[in-house]
Amino acid sequence: MDKIVSLAKRRGFVFQSSEIYGGLNGCWDYGPMGVELLNNLKQAWWRSMTLRDDIEGVDASILMHPRVWEASGHVANFTDPMVDCKQCKSRYRVDVLLEELSLKKKKEILRELEPTTFAGQLQDQKVLDEFEARALLDDIVPKMIQLASCPNCGSKGTFTEARQFNLMFKTSMGPVEDTNNVVYLRPETAQGIFVNFLNIQSASRQKLPFGVAQIGKAFRNEINTKNFLFRTREFEQMEMQYFVKPGEEDKWFEYWRAERLKWFVELGMKPGKLQWHKHEKLAHYAKAAFDIEFQFPFGWGEIEGIHSRTDFDLSRHEEYSGKSMKYFDDQTKEKFTPFVIETSAGASRSFMAFLVAAYDEESAPTAEGGEEMRTVLHFHPRLAPIKAAILPLVNRDGMDEIAHTMTADLQKYFRVFYDDSGAVGRRYRRQDEIGTPFCFTIDSQTLHDQSVTVRERDSMNQERIAISAARNYLMDKLGS
Ligand code: ATP
Repeated sequence: MDKIVSLAKRRGFVFQSSEIYGGLNGCWDYGPMGVELLNNLKQAWWRSMTLRDDIEGVDASILMHPRVWEASGHVANFTDPMVDCKQCKSRYRVDVLLEELSLKKKKEILRELEPTTFAGQLQDQKVLDEFEARALLDDIVPKMIQLASCPNCGSKGTFTEARQFNLMFKTSMGPVEDTNNVVYLRPETAQGIFVNFLNIQSASRQKLPFGVAQIGKAFRNEINTKNFLFRTREFEQMEMQYFVKPGEEDKWFEYWRAERLKWFVELGMKPGKLQWHKHEKLAHYAKAAFDIEFQFPFGWGEIEGIHSRTDFDLSRHEEYSGKSMKYFDDQTKEKFTPFVIETSAGASRSFMAFLVAAYDEESAPTAEGGEEMRTVLHFHPRLAPIKAAILPLVNRDGMDEIAHTMTADLQKYFRVFYDDSGAVGRRYRRQDEIGTPFCFTIDSQTLHDQSVTVRERDSMNQERIAISAARNYLMDKLGS
């Protein structure tokens, strides 16, 4: 992780927010390479969601009427139980604290909790399963917490009782700050879709089943932020709510599970780095919930949730606003509240997953016939911040002129980069490090036949193509 975080800073992917003031916890800035990668990722998602007949887009405001968050349940329930260590004052989210205990510690806790059940030899998997099962039980969790030691200072039995902490950021609207004008920074983008359900349906004349997609910022006052972009206080979500006839939700749930996993794989993720996590403890309104998890260097972590949410959200908005949220089926002449399948991905978390998945260090041949280590980001060409580098072999004989013209031509369509400084091998390495999939090199043969070499990042193979074919070559490789 340290290597990736340092590369991310050095090459302009991600900087700490307000770094010169010591940084702001849980907030990050995307640099020149990062913003390209993030935009490409969001665009890939947007295209896959909206280049079809049955999904519309929306861009709702971040600030919404405060009743929205009462209806959604966030004011009452968007809380995490937290505990403080009385010794060193560190604060932890209860579920995260328990989950991250070492295997040895988990075994000790199980033995202290139930000495007879866990007396003999215990297999590691059994310890993990039994521990996880108990960590879901509200009456056992307080005992487990008191048996755990503080990860910061190591003291045992020093945790306070768990308190509920609401994760929504509050601010106030207008010049006077009081309790009557409290508004929240949205903790998820989904509610902007639900409250607009009928507006969108009547404007677009969509019929069930249909979906609404949205990409936007969300804010959560997380108790602990950590692991780089994994858990931050400001982040971006890519959410789609798919409205279906009641009774058809299971079929669409399976459809969207398959689609969403496929999306990650098509953008270059190895299937072995992804897994499903089924929620055992469901919210009272949910029918089913699965997470797509990615294998980060610190363990498996959710990157997207797929949820079957019944008619809960629309019904609650109907109840709280007093406005009908029902759909009228003009074939059957029935009015009913649709059920919802939600796909909710973190753009920032997926960004990090794609960065981690792409990172590699491997040996590569040098121009002199030796070997050296190279750092390379194997991004799918569609995600790569820069699509191609244009490299004149030397800065004279007209090669630089041709390279400049080629750069200007390709720049009309793609983000490309002109580089004439240093040996060409070093220039390749600099592009490998930011994941540029192709390098076009202009050499003496170019002067005779207007052809260039294309060097492919992953295989490092080279072929010759005509300069005039470069645009189509890139189009083809990007698949767009
Ligand atoms: P977690 O259990 O990790 O807090 P969650 O189950 O609350 O996540 P959802 O509410 O389902 O997450 O949010 C959907 C997606 O939004 C997640 O899969 C994740 O990619 C992203 N996300 C949620 N919280 C954060 C955060 N604090 N920082 C970055 N991304 C986040």
